[in-house]
Amino acid sequence: MWPRSPPNHKEWQGSGTTAHFGDIVLGRCYTYTQIVRPELRDKDCQKIQEAFLKSFLSKDPCDATEQDYQPLIELANQTIPCNKTVFWSKTKELAHQYTRVQQALFTLENTLLGYIADDLSWCGDSGSSEINYQSCPTRRDNCSSNPVSVFWNTVSKRFAEDACGVVHVVLNGSLNEAFDRRSTFGRVEIHNLHPKKVRTLQAWVMHDIGGVRSDSCSSSSIRDLKSIISERNITFTCQNNYRPVRFLQCVKNPEHPSCTSGI
Ligand code: NAD
Repeated sequence: MWPRSPPNHKEWQGSGTTAHFGDIVLGRCYTYTQIVRPELRDKDCQKIQEAFLKSFLSKDPCDATEQDYQPLIELANQTIPCNKTVFWSKTKELAHQYTRVQQALFTLENTLLGYIADDLSWCGDSGSSEINYQSCPTRRDNCSSNPVSVFWNTVSKRFAEDACGVVHVVLNGSLNEAFDRRSTFGRVEIHNLHPKKVRTLQAWVMHDIGGVRSDSCSSSSIRDLKSIISERNITFTCQNNYRPVRFLQCVKNPEHPSCTSGI
């Protein structure tokens, strides 16, 4: 029988599964559970790798579901202490620089599942049990239920549901809108905070050093965020250029006026 498509034919517009996906998943799982957070040393990384692969192999990559990831999520479950959750939107690098210094704090990527999957791409095909290393579907393929998007939506939702106490978000005040309702933070995370568990959302609106100061705590997009959070009976606070995070930005720009006075 002829193959359904010639070798190297790109079926989808997105890049294919990350080379050595299975090995990277296994390696990151061991690094995280043995070195980064040894309190999780008893997790079974072989089983986690197997569950991850099973979540998308031999399945239609435009029809991924939350259920596909349930076995993986259960194997990797982890308790994040209250007051230690950090969300971010359009501030990935800065938020992670901060949690690297403040090791008691957790972004999603500082949890086992987020650590394993960060920056990876993966998909399979319903007609074969193989990993597709050539291409994977994206929204441009009219395929919003692709394995990577459904994974991040599912684990982001779970991460928010599990949060308790005072939670934080690092936002980018140099964009036209520091808060974007269409982002994962705006679309998924804030709507899944439990008002009975989460007392306060503290927003830190950070401006690029030397960049435009386009959005800040008093801007309309942050007012929008405040009203969504307040309606959910969670207290909202906001700080521009939260000093501990500002100091990290200043490491790269020590001579900038905003770093030498008044910060
Ligand atoms: P953002 O717009 O800065 O997006 C963050 C990154 O995730 C970008 O690389 C973006 O392309 C990608 N991304 C976002 N939504 C996606 C989706 N549905 N499918 C595939 N990739 C997606 O900020 P955001 O959208 O608010 O997401 C950040 C928040 O959501 C964080 O609080 C984090 O907990 C979680 N999250 C993390 C990742 C990640 O790649 N590590 C991805 C999605 C969501």
